[in-house]
Amino acid sequence: MKTELLPVDDFSLKKAEELLRSGQVVAFPTETVYGLGAWAFSAEGIDRVYEAKGRPSDNPLIVHVAPGMDLSKIVTEIPEKARILMERYWPGPLTIILPKTEDVPLRVTGGLSTVAVRMPSHPAAMKLIGSTGLPIVAPSANTSGRPSPTSAQHVLEDLRGKIPLILDGGKCQVGLESTIVDLTEEVPMILRPGAITLAMLEEAVGEVDVDPAVRAAVGIQSDLVPKAPGMKYRHYAPKGYLILTDEGPDQIADWIRQDLAGKEQKIGLIGSDEWIRKVENSLGPVRITAVSLGSAMDEIARKLFDGLRKTDEEGLEKIYGEAFQRKDLGEAIMNRFLKAASERRISEQTKQ
Ligand code: AMP
Ligand code: MG
Repeated sequence: MKTELLPVDDFSLKKAEELLRSGQVVAFPTETVYGLGAWAFSAEGIDRVYEAKGRPSDNPLIVHVAPGMDLSKIVTEIPEKARILMERYWPGPLTIILPKTEDVPLRVTGGLSTVAVRMPSHPAAMKLIGSTGLPIVAPSANTSGRPSPTSAQHVLEDLRGKIPLILDGGKCQVGLESTIVDLTEEVPMILRPGAITLAMLEEAVGEVDVDPAVRAAVGIQSDLVPKAPGMKYRHYAPKGYLILTDEGPDQIADWIRQDLAGKEQKIGLIGSDEWIRKVENSLGPVRITAVSLGSAMDEIARKLFDGLRKTDEEGLEKIYGEAFQRKDLGEAIMNRFLKAASERRISEQTKQ
């Protein structure tokens, strides 16, 4: 299959609509990451999403909606707290879990009786969903296990030849997938951290829990089963061996010298500008490849997945990554970074 890459305009949106209505898939930009869209009520389209991504079928999809859309076809009820969160943070990077209607196919929800719903704020996503009036399932448009795509180029890398159309809307603003909050119990619970932080949710609706599996610092090493099925998979992994650490620059420089003395291999760094500068200073004349994620936390979030893909392009075999403080946006960044890592050399304090 030929994969077309088109800018977002009336022509490409029309084409996307035709494809979606006929049970095909289309990749499109959202403010979080690029999504691989299919019409939520097309069994064929949904099957194609799982197939193109190589996604395990027990990993449910998020249904994307637009302003003014009738949610009663998708969820059986909208409790007060859910309504408040929708008003406050929609359109935006917040996914809400609610009981599903009979209409929503079980293949969308991976057999669960609940459904995940989000209203994206990216203009292209709003146009596509709003003008067609179709609720669209849209998991990240990457091959399962790879870093999520934050540019049309990333989608092409993973899905070229497997999907007919990619709408190119430039780079994603947020860069990490949406916050997922379960609203089926009295106290809302974060199942996946994202750009809408715990503090932002608490400010809107009071007490909010966090799924203990999210907080179990090191995710995949934990015995806790996450409530969002997708969170149990290893994700985002670069090809190289990624060691995430909060040790000081001198210690990291020592490790790198030992690595280089042991055997010839391509070693690199991934982290903030400042951290990279410090490690390079400690290394002295030894030169290694550095992938910079910038400085502010929102910039780091935006560049994380692209940075992980860059370590592949550079052919890095061993990568030292900076462990960030797990608060506010750092919680979401570390949640993804930890899942990408092969090894952690992290103190108890940063784990919390
Ligand atoms: P992605 O679309 O790739 O960002 O992945 C969607 C995430 O939402 C996965 O981690 C899913 O497990 C999670 N998810 C989707 N629907 C539900 C649901 N009904 N209950 C809990 N988690 C869900
Ligand atoms: Mg994904």
